[in-house]
Amino acid sequence: MPRHRTRQVRVGRVLIGSDAPVVVQSMTNTDTVDVLATAMQVAELARAGSELVRITVNNEAAAKAVPHIRDRLLALNMDVPLVGDFHYNGHKLLADHPACAEALAKLRINPGNVGAGTRRDPQFASIIEIACKYDKPVRIGVNWGSLDPSVLARVMDQNAKRAEPRDAGAVMREALVVSALESAVKAEEYGLGGDRIILSAKVSSVQDLIAVYRDMAARCDYPLHLGLTEAGMGSKGIVASTAALAVLLQEGIGDTIRISLTPEPNGSRTQEVVVAQEILQTMGLRAFTPMVTACPGCGRTTSTFFQELASGIQNYVREQMPVWREQYDGVENMTLAVMGCVVNGPGESKHANIGISLPGTGETPAAPVFVDGEKTVTLRGDNIAAEFKAIVDNYVATRYTKKAV
Ligand code: SF4
Repeated sequence: MPRHRTRQVRVGRVLIGSDAPVVVQSMTNTDTVDVLATAMQVAELARAGSELVRITVNNEAAAKAVPHIRDRLLALNMDVPLVGDFHYNGHKLLADHPACAEALAKLRINPGNVGAGTRRDPQFASIIEIACKYDKPVRIGVNWGSLDPSVLARVMDQNAKRAEPRDAGAVMREALVVSALESAVKAEEYGLGGDRIILSAKVSSVQDLIAVYRDMAARCDYPLHLGLTEAGMGSKGIVASTAALAVLLQEGIGDTIRISLTPEPNGSRTQEVVVAQEILQTMGLRAFTPMVTACPGCGRTTSTFFQELASGIQNYVREQMPVWREQYDGVENMTLAVMGCVVNGPGESKHANIGISLPGTGETPAAPVFVDGEKTVTLRGDNIAAEFKAIVDNYVATRYTKKAV
């Protein structure tokens, strides 16, 4: 699928847009003032695979904390680019705390709350001037929950004068796109390079998001940050985000993505990174970690053992990836299959690098293993999970080229 043609923006060591791979990003939910907690969560998200991490910069104390967070991360040998999220007072915080501006790799501003009335333009200009001074790219991120009322009023007026006025939804979508595009034009007028601008226009409805981004992609060549805002919790958030992003990514629209999941109580913030990676990997756009194909199970499945094996092996390869990634080229492309019986088991196993079929109801208690399409061994007894992991470890060590250290 050809990518929508966009410019390319460098954010720290990460390239966004044009032919660069779609970048995964995430956002912390710690109080930025808590330097240790925020640095630890940024590190956790980066280790999970987040290539940029956004932190909110909402007050003086948070602005003061930003360089210390960056320093703590550097002390951990983590140079993940930090994105500062500014609302209402960004112009003041950035002007009063140059070390904050300097420590960030990108600024995110929302044209809907950068300032009201006559304060809007000078405050917007002030942020752009600081971005230029410190050579920082800017994401102009519009959100329908905070759409600039003056833009909405103007688009509504224009709509009322049309021979056939459009419905309220279409007017809102147009206002979102206009707000993003006009802000980008203004940013360029204030001196920011066209190759230092990324746009987003987030809504929480799948169909609206698809319509807005198709329109925005047709009307500009800035890299686009894609995400369904306030996607929600659990399977609803994952499904809604995937439904929206998959359509757009399939059309080549979207240069960086964030999945705005509400974590379960005490759940890990890294889930949003895993979901973002899995969307890109299952669509064949990028590879991050070996994928496990598993059948859903049915009345032929004798126990929950195969579900436990499928889950255990997926967790195992994910846990190994930080080390494997450093040691072996291409290991992220490995495919595994864990199947519940011989109906589809051997066939699916042959399509994977390594596959195992557990015995179904009435079958001989044996689990044939296929490696690169050939049956190599049949596992039996109580130690199948450990023996299968050993086969995976051996395959990784022998199949993938060791990186030079
Ligand atoms: S592979 Fe076997 S156990 Fe799995 S869903 Fe198909 S028939 Fe059922």
